[in-house]
Amino acid sequence: MSFLLQTTIAGSLPKPRWLAEPNTLWAPWLLEGSALADGKRDAVRLALRDQESAGIDIVTDGEQTRRHFVTTFLEQLDGVDFQHRKTVRIRNRYDADVPIVVGAVAGRGPVFVDDAKFLRGQTARKVKYTLPGPMTMVDTLYDAHYRSREKLAWAFAEILNEEALGIAATGVDVIQFDEPAFNVYFDEVRDWGIAALERAARGLPCTTAVHICYGYGIKANNDWKQTLGSEWRQYEQTFPLLARSQIQQVSLECANSHVPIDLIALLDGKDVLVGCVDVASEHIESPDEVAATIRAAMEHVAPERLYPCTNCGMVPLSREAARGKLEALAAGALIVRRELQP
Ligand SMILES: [Zn+2]
Repeated sequence: MSFLLQTTIAGSLPKPRWLAEPNTLWAPWLLEGSALADGKRDAVRLALRDQESAGIDIVTDGEQTRRHFVTTFLEQLDGVDFQHRKTVRIRNRYDADVPIVVGAVAGRGPVFVDDAKFLRGQTARKVKYTLPGPMTMVDTLYDAHYRSREKLAWAFAEILNEEALGIAATGVDVIQFDEPAFNVYFDEVRDWGIAALERAARGLPCTTAVHICYGYGIKANNDWKQTLGSEWRQYEQTFPLLARSQIQQVSLECANSHVPIDLIALLDGKDVLVGCVDVASEHIESPDEVAATIRAAMEHVAPERLYPCTNCGMVPLSREAARGKLEALAAGALIVRRELQP
């Protein structure tokens, strides 16, 4: 590490309005065929440009090539029926029509490897690539085959590991698994969730990360947050387990939330990607607000292990807000960096 407090983002950024409808999750593509393939790559170039010009140090493709962080991966697997759907409750929070697992799940070949190769070729900065985590994938399906969340998670972990090894071979610096389900199913996290995550990350030559959050700023999540009380202590259950795991980085929500910041001390020995930018509001933080969150985090984590980040993906936000937040994130980190290294 050449300098402290390197900035990064959880993963997604809003898409250009010519590619997909703005401010919408699962927004359908507005292009087709080769125009869509070209459009996705152009959108990746723009996402990189926005991050680079803002001053973000470890960049992503803004997840511009996928409609949704879980389903786009699932669509490429055998054993999952997207034609027939069932209504299930996602993370005990909201109902969604989801695909059905009808047989043994299996990969049909690389899903994002070409996208990762393209990303790697488009920037000289460090890059992070994101994948869904096994437990969160299980939670986005109706399982009519395994009848066991654990067995299905294990099958997904093996598929994810193959995909992640292919992505790592393109030269990305970090692979992150998104596991918002870790904030809900604490017994399962302990019993098999961490093991499945480690299986997905097995043998990766790059840095490994997990992102655990309170979700996008959509209504179902905001309503759920209202029920969590004045102190959100969910991380207290998972962080000690993650501290003992082989995963190297943990990305978490912090800005404008009710997470007691001292909980990050439970991640002893890990890199901590602290959310300094709220994704549930279009309000753009000031650099001073970002700096204050970083300083508060530094009371519990050494600056060598601290990476200022966003709380979660920014895909549902306006592009203007997302750009403003990227700039505030980088500017806030710079303020504190200068205090540390005058
Ligand atoms: Zn998130």
